[in-house]
Formats: sequence, C-alpha cells, structure tokens
Amino acid sequence: MMKLHFLGTGCMMPTKERNHLATALEYEGEMLLFDCGEHTQLQIKKMKLALGKFRKIFISHWHGDHVLGLPGLLMTLANTQGIEEVEIHGPKGTSDYLHHMRKSMIFDSKLSLKIFEHEPKEREILTVDESPEYCIKCVKLNHSVPCIAYSFEQKDVRNIDKDKAKLLGLEQSPLLARSKLGLDIELEGKRIPSEDLTYVKKGKKICFVFDTRPCLGIDLLVKNADYLIMEATYIFDQHADKAQEYDHMSAKETAEIALRNNVQNLVITHFSQRYKDTKDIEAEAKEIFEKTCAAYDLMSLPLR
Ligand SMILES: [Zn+2]
Ligand SMILES: [Zn+2]
Repeated sequence: MMKLHFLGTGCMMPTKERNHLATALEYEGEMLLFDCGEHTQLQIKKMKLALGKFRKIFISHWHGDHVLGLPGLLMTLANTQGIEEVEIHGPKGTSDYLHHMRKSMIFDSKLSLKIFEHEPKEREILTVDESPEYCIKCVKLNHSVPCIAYSFEQKDVRNIDKDKAKLLGLEQSPLLARSKLGLDIELEGKRIPSEDLTYVKKGKKICFVFDTRPCLGIDLLVKNADYLIMEATYIFDQHADKAQEYDHMSAKETAEIALRNNVQNLVITHFSQRYKDTKDIEAEAKEIFEKTCAAYDLMSLPLR
C-alpha cells in the first residue's frame, strides 16, 4: 500500500497550524521525502514514521521553507542505526548549498551523502532515479530561482489471473513464472500466450509540484497523474497579483492544470500564512476541479 504523509503544508512563514513544507511518500519499505522545511524531523516523530526508512530526499529548490529542516534531519539520520548513506536530489547548485550547510556548523560526518543535481531543459522530462519497481522524473519549473518538480511513477506489473490458471490446472506450475514475464508457454503441445493467463496492473503516478507559475513543464509531467500534489499558495479572487509577483500559484490556476491534464486527484498545499484556514482556497479549486482536497499538517492519505 502507498501512502502520502503531509509533514508541513505552509509556505515562507510557518504558523501554529502549518509547518514549513515537507511531504513523504511511503512506498513499500521506503519513505521518499519531497522537500524538508524547518521542523520536518519533529513532524516525522509526531506522525510516528520510521526514521530509518528515509534514505532518499528530493529537493525542489533552495528557498528556506523547503530546506531549513535538512541539517536537523540529516544529523538525526546520521545517528539512526542502520543508515550509512542518504541520497539527496535537487536542482543545479544543490552540491554547493549542501557543502556550505555542512561547513556552517559542527556537522556529524558519519553519514555519507550521495548528491545528484538535475538541470532539465524547457520541454524535457529527466529520469533521475530508477528501481525495479518505480522511476522518478523531473521537469523545470518557473520560479524566481532554479526549481524542479518530481513525479513518482510506479511501473506496470503483470500478474497471473488465478482463475484462468486454475481452469488450465496450472495453479502450482513453474511455467507461470514465464507467463508473468510476458512470455508464451506450451502446455500439452498447445501454445498459451501470456495475455491469456495474465493481466496488467497499472502503476500509479504521483506528482509533486511546488513553487512555480504555470509553465509547460508542469503540463508535460502531470498528464494523467493519479495524484497531483501541488502548491496553491493564494486565492485567485483575493490575491492573483501576489501569485504573479512572487512566482506562485493560486488555487484556481492549480485546479485548471489538474483539469486540463486529466489528473485523477488533486491535493493542494503550501498555503500562505495570511489565510487562517483553507476552506476558501479549497472551495476555489473545487469549483474547477471537484476532486480536490486541501492538505493539512500531519494528514496521512492512503493511495488507492
Ligand atoms: Zn515555498
Ligand atoms: Zn520558493
């Protein structure tokens, strides 16, 4: 089962209700962390998530509200049993920022950091990480500093249709392994194509799009996503000018992106501190894209 954990849903100024931004995707035995605002490690503890599972961190950009929690989290991970290495992905400049960050204090060096910098061009989708079960891609965003969005794309899996296998008396047959790989098998001189014995379970696509104005990269990345986690800092009706000025999105613009890209579910986050609650932001998005939900701190969302 996959789950999203919203560790922080605020933006530049944290509030009592909303921490700086951080979102974790729980996938099998892993926790993939997307951005790491101040206090992220405390939010992880409040949610009782296993620290030892945080081995990959994906940074959108180096504005403080997305990275101020890194030193604390990395120090704690360095002292967490069983963790020797952490991967950190980020835009161009990430190595330098991390280097300076580690030099700015007495930093535990037991932890090895594997750093990856990504610089996708306009109209380019870069694959930045791949495992047998999923891949992570990124695109360029349109913010005041280098900023990238990520997608987590689970690979399709071919499964055995147990009813069909039973019908052919193949329930325990080692031939099923061949069929699962997409290969034909032979049974009593008869060829059985893989498609007759198996079905394909489509992998999920989850996108993480923070700090940006609308741009081509977003549309390229989020097409047909099962879940789009995206910033909606402002209410268009009240602060469209601020969204323009500070290179952010309004709820209306974010919902329009979800709608035109056939997204299945939209979760909005990164809310301006000026809004006491998120009712009006959510309502504005829902008017355009019904399947919207406003995230809140410490919310867990199982992905179906
Ligand atoms: Zn931000
Ligand atoms: Zn920013």
